[in-house]
Amino acid sequence: MKNTARTVAFKPGERNIFFHLLTACNLSCRHCYINRQQHGTEQLTKEQIAQWMTLFADTDKHSNMIFLGGEPTLHPELPFAIKKAKELGYNVTVDSNGYLFNDLLTKTSPDLLDFLSFSLDGPDAKTNDPIRGEGVFATCVANIERAVSLGYAVSVIYTVSKKNLDSLVRLVPLLVKLKVPKLFIQVIGLRGKSAKADSEEVSQVSRQQWLDTVPAVARMAAEKGIHVTYPKVFLAPDEKFECAGVVAENYFIFPNGRVYQCPLCEDHPINAYAIENNRLVKSEGLCEDSFFSLNIAEGCVMNKLLQPDTIEYDSAGKPVNRISCCLLKQEIGPG
Ligand code: SF4
Ligand code: SF4
Repeated sequence: MKNTARTVAFKPGERNIFFHLLTACNLSCRHCYINRQQHGTEQLTKEQIAQWMTLFADTDKHSNMIFLGGEPTLHPELPFAIKKAKELGYNVTVDSNGYLFNDLLTKTSPDLLDFLSFSLDGPDAKTNDPIRGEGVFATCVANIERAVSLGYAVSVIYTVSKKNLDSLVRLVPLLVKLKVPKLFIQVIGLRGKSAKADSEEVSQVSRQQWLDTVPAVARMAAEKGIHVTYPKVFLAPDEKFECAGVVAENYFIFPNGRVYQCPLCEDHPINAYAIENNRLVKSEGLCEDSFFSLNIAEGCVMNKLLQPDTIEYDSAGKPVNRISCCLLKQEIGPG
């Protein structure tokens, strides 16, 4: 039987904590979603990092801690954060742009870090560098090779846009060559820079373009031994719609203390929680979670409110497809 992707249902009791330690970055990617007006310009102190992680620690639940930025390796306390997260019982991932500042590979160890993820938006410099910056491909690939040789579990994140969709297929042989066993394909979000009018070239692909390419490339990668995760995006008629804000636990923490449950909301001051004086406080009034339980024909309510152009309607005005929660994933692995 053909190896097919399965939808990864939201698991009760599993939590993902996306912790942005800072918003500073050495790069200026065309599709960057960081919005310093909304997310702050602070760099958290060592004490704040420890305290804020403790707020979310719960050893009764399987909790994933994902360190992000900006570029998280620019934070000199990242090795401390990794160690502390492990002590608090988290599964730990770092998402890096590949520069690995502050000598991360020698300051932490493969025993502490469950995954080190590198962002690559092309299988070669010609595709990657116009999106992520001159010389980025070479640096990132060299550091992937170094991390793999030191025994780190490495994955790659590829953010699909109109500019690099056709090149996705050529990423597979590169990952095989680099011995990278895991690939995350993301769909570009209409947030931050990519929401601006001048970024047409790096904007979202159409439904047909996505469906024609991504599942087939994922299957091909799986045949080569790579585990691939990609967003579900479109729900089939018989598939149930679920909002992660209602049925799952995801927290997106920013250095200004905002804590969101839905990544689509991050450009707006409607965060459900905030960290104030090292305490997690529920926001009052109309916030993101006021919308999560609304039941609409289009599926995800925030997609309908914030990205209405992504929804196709038939001649009777009915949505052609429901849009899934952006946090719902498909996965396919070897065999
Ligand atoms: S590496 Fe990440 S944070 Fe830095 S500019 Fe690129 S997308 Fe933004
Ligand atoms: S993306 Fe949509 S479905 Fe998912 S958490 Fe946000 S509002 Fe809910």
